[in-house]
Amino acid sequence: MDVSHILDRLNDPQREAVTASGGHHLVLAGAGSGKTRVLVHRIAWLIEVEQVPGWNILAVTFTNKAAREMRSRIDELLTIPSGAMWVGTFHGLAHRLLRSHWKEAGLSQGFQIMDSDDQFRLIKRILKSLDLDDSRWPPRQVQWFINAQKDEGRRPKHIDDCDDFFQKQMIRIYQEYEDACKRGGVVDFAELLLRSHELWLNNPELLEHYRKRFSHILVDEFQDSNSIQYAWIRLLVGTHNLLFVVGDDDQSIYGWRGARVENILNFQSDYPGSSLIKLEQNYRSSGNILKAANSIIEHNPTRLGKNLWTEDGAGEPVHLYSAFNEVDEARFVIGRIQEQIEQGKQRSEIAILYRTSAQSRLFEEALIQTSIPYRVYGGMRFFERAEVKDALAYVRLINHQHDDVAFERAVNQPPRGIGPRTLDAIRQHAREFSCSMWQASVELKQGGDMQARAANAIQHFIDLIEDNRSADDDLPFHEDISRIIAISGLRDHFQKSRDGKGQDRIENLDEVINAARQFINHEDELLSDLDAFLAHASLEAGENQGQEYEECVQLMTLHSAKGLEFPVVFIGGLEEGLFPHRMSADDPERLEEERRLCYVGMTRAMQQLTLSHAESRRLHGSESYPLPSRYLREIPHQYLLEVRSTPQISRPYAPAAQSNSEGQFHLGQQVTHPKFGEGVILNSEGEGSTARVQVNFADTGVKWLVVNYANLS
Ligand code: ATP
Ligand code: MG
Repeated sequence: MDVSHILDRLNDPQREAVTASGGHHLVLAGAGSGKTRVLVHRIAWLIEVEQVPGWNILAVTFTNKAAREMRSRIDELLTIPSGAMWVGTFHGLAHRLLRSHWKEAGLSQGFQIMDSDDQFRLIKRILKSLDLDDSRWPPRQVQWFINAQKDEGRRPKHIDDCDDFFQKQMIRIYQEYEDACKRGGVVDFAELLLRSHELWLNNPELLEHYRKRFSHILVDEFQDSNSIQYAWIRLLVGTHNLLFVVGDDDQSIYGWRGARVENILNFQSDYPGSSLIKLEQNYRSSGNILKAANSIIEHNPTRLGKNLWTEDGAGEPVHLYSAFNEVDEARFVIGRIQEQIEQGKQRSEIAILYRTSAQSRLFEEALIQTSIPYRVYGGMRFFERAEVKDALAYVRLINHQHDDVAFERAVNQPPRGIGPRTLDAIRQHAREFSCSMWQASVELKQGGDMQARAANAIQHFIDLIEDNRSADDDLPFHEDISRIIAISGLRDHFQKSRDGKGQDRIENLDEVINAARQFINHEDELLSDLDAFLAHASLEAGENQGQEYEECVQLMTLHSAKGLEFPVVFIGGLEEGLFPHRMSADDPERLEEERRLCYVGMTRAMQQLTLSHAESRRLHGSESYPLPSRYLREIPHQYLLEVRSTPQISRPYAPAAQSNSEGQFHLGQQVTHPKFGEGVILNSEGEGSTARVQVNFADTGVKWLVVNYANLS
């Protein structure tokens, strides 16, 4: 058999990994060394040479975009059809399992997926119903707690309350939340994984079925799997199936969301006899870029240590721009992009990466001014926009009356005179009788327990939903959606809105119909087109803006750039407090993760990498004067070229960190004063008991303070 199409253009260790026989295998290798390529070629090898039916293969990747790309690359390589292989993200695959076995999983047939915004709202409502004060029990913190428990595979009953009041209360909220999800027939993202893990644990015959089916399991980006994902895979592998994972400990960037890099470190002891294959040649980046990235990651003390090299020439040095402020930074970056495009670069070959999604706005504005098409990944994404969610809430509610999240959203949007008191009564009734809010409103209305005006308004709403339930099955579902949007009253409502965004919002409503029209249902054996579309809207939010490879400049957070590559890359905001982020400043582990994020970002670049920082930046409503990021200092000079120097900072990549005599404070540092609140250190002088610092406070402006008395933290 001619297998050259699978093995050509692979180096020796890559070939070893692709053709490895029997056993479990771990490919541990740095950025751009061909891990994903090896995974794709291995699947082709299994199908064509080892004659494993596609049916027996399960491949997990990190994003839906990566999954789509993986499938198309496999199909390109294969000379025979790949068959019914399962390729997807952990969440996508878990969702698929739960749809097939909703009954065994203890779910309702039409269960709906809640995204994190819906989850947040639900938690807020639960806190209110429990009479818990938002300020003592911040909903974000509760959300974090619940998701972290689920990621670790814990239900309320599994958590030790440690006889601690706080812990007890959190467990109680978690339990209430679970009850509410059950009543409303909704599941959150973490639930998808936990529930499908339990599905297998509680149904041995089902587990056996899937174990028999998936003899080959392959996982990309393994370093970012969390506990429950790891357990899920382990369960499926059992004693007979074969596991092939690829990953890079230096690119583990989701620790803050429960990912455990230990999974990669423990792989060999958890799977005794597994082989370890290392790849060291980088095929992506030119020499200077790779060396600069290597020298940054070397500053992390805890790493397995790898040595990446490239055959490529040195290429251009890494460019560094010190901007006057954030507006200047955006102007510079977009100016460079214009030049690149004029010199013949495709727009889609250019990416702007940043640490926090709020940074995209200025780049977006500058792009709009210069009429360069762009696309934001991971920002305010289409399916996350309020008006889109409003419209889909109607669609959900008309099709699944017991979806409380949809009910809450639609019931008074547009406003129809259903006030907070009425809603409270409905919630109360729903809780008391363990029923959905829909049912509660019908019962309350019938029981005559409502004031006339409220009762009228509720009746109107009930009629609106009821009258539109019977869909004409012969119509394509996008026409259904179009009809539902038309009756919702949203269009009129936005038409009248005075926030200047009405037209935009109406266009987005039209775009929902377009999205439905273009939607292809890949799950048609499991789900109706409409339900598949709703699941897609929740699950794949953000990956549906414009066309996949439309000619657009690509904007995204560093986190969402994982696994991707671009010829030209800009990374903005390399400033202390922003990158590394101030939230990580006090935690050595988080700081290491920030540095890995920097490594991930830099290694996305193939030919050109430009880093920038601003000397002043408005952050959270106040002016700050951040120091250049430590990462800039960690790059040896020979790989860097400063594009413009400014008088204030002559060598931004090696600034002397000024500190007072105690070495406690430094310029640009965020501090808190008991009375003046939060501020940033601008200047310092003196020593010992006379040491003073100048602080720019967000609320009260600039002040000099004596360190010994100021009680700064
Ligand atoms: P990351 O860690 O960022 O996910 P990776 O290890 O998965 O990176 P790939 O994306 O698979 O790396 O490969 C990086 C680039 O190098 C791709 O453009 C790929 O096509 C190319 N490449 C990989 N191996 C080879 C090879 N043997 N010959 C030529 N090009 C290669
Ligand atoms: Mg990869």
